[in-house]
Amino acid sequence: STPTAVMTAVGRGAQLGILIKGAQALESISKVKTIIFDKTGTLTKGEPEVIDIVVTDSEWNQKRLYEVAASLEGFSEHHIAKAITKAATKNGITWELASEWETVAGIGMEGTVNGVKVFIGNEKVLEHLQEEIPKTAIDTRKIWDDTGHTTIYIVHKDKLVGMIAIDDPIRENALATVRELRKAKIQDIRMATGDNEYVAKRIATRLEIGNVYASLLPGQKLDLVKELQKSGHKVLMVGDGINDAPALMQADVGVAMGKTGTDVAIEAADIALLSDSIDKIPQAIQLSKRTVNTIK
Ligand code: ADP
Ligand code: MG
Repeated sequence: STPTAVMTAVGRGAQLGILIKGAQALESISKVKTIIFDKTGTLTKGEPEVIDIVVTDSEWNQKRLYEVAASLEGFSEHHIAKAITKAATKNGITWELASEWETVAGIGMEGTVNGVKVFIGNEKVLEHLQEEIPKTAIDTRKIWDDTGHTTIYIVHKDKLVGMIAIDDPIRENALATVRELRKAKIQDIRMATGDNEYVAKRIATRLEIGNVYASLLPGQKLDLVKELQKSGHKVLMVGDGINDAPALMQADVGVAMGKTGTDVAIEAADIALLSDSIDKIPQAIQLSKRTVNTIK
């Protein structure tokens, strides 16, 4: 049977906005020495905005680029997709949804728009190009990398037709949370993201996180957790997306963003943070340690 102290702590957690699903999770937190944070939507607000849109093919214009992009992103639940359809609407653009579409986790979307195959997403979609990447695209990418913006590419009929720059600000309490965790003797703090290494490193540096893994597919986030566990780490993983779900399940403690996180992530996690407040994680650790000490 569950000790009274644990039940009390679960109740106290709920009051704080930390929804702990079971006694086991509460006890596990006290043993955690390693924390892995997802980036997008976890350390960042997950409310990205379109900063720029650039046409890379002379036959195209911004309006057509938005139309094609939105016709695929209109199906996606991803934060970036929402940013793109919102920007399209703001620019007075209307679009017809693609006739066929598919989500490619950790990469983007693919589908058929007016009978033509279209890919939208990160640099991995460039694998579908039949030509060399135009020089303007390389130059633009460099500028966006340097300014910390995520680059989204649009490939239409095997050609790169345009690029979109996305910015997603860091959560206000993220740096304070990382520092608080270090104070609580958790020195091993890492970041794992599907986003590119430039954006990842820039954000990690600002958050004083030294260990960064970028361009990860969902399976690779899972493997990272497994690897660390094999070498004896007790891992707490924090995430919000479908792409985090396998890693959240595998981690000794999985923590999901309870407000903006996807249902799959919340289900996979042991703990949900009701208002997405990552600064509740140090509090959860404290609560867990106190509880375990009481039981001993
Ligand atoms: P994270 O691990 O940081 O939460 P995701 O795995 O959700 O990020 O996404 C990784 C990357 O894949 C994004 O940065 C983006 O480049 C690309 N991506 C994923 N979904 C989409 C989409 N619907 N449209 C465009 N790009 C996408
Ligand atoms: Mg995420």
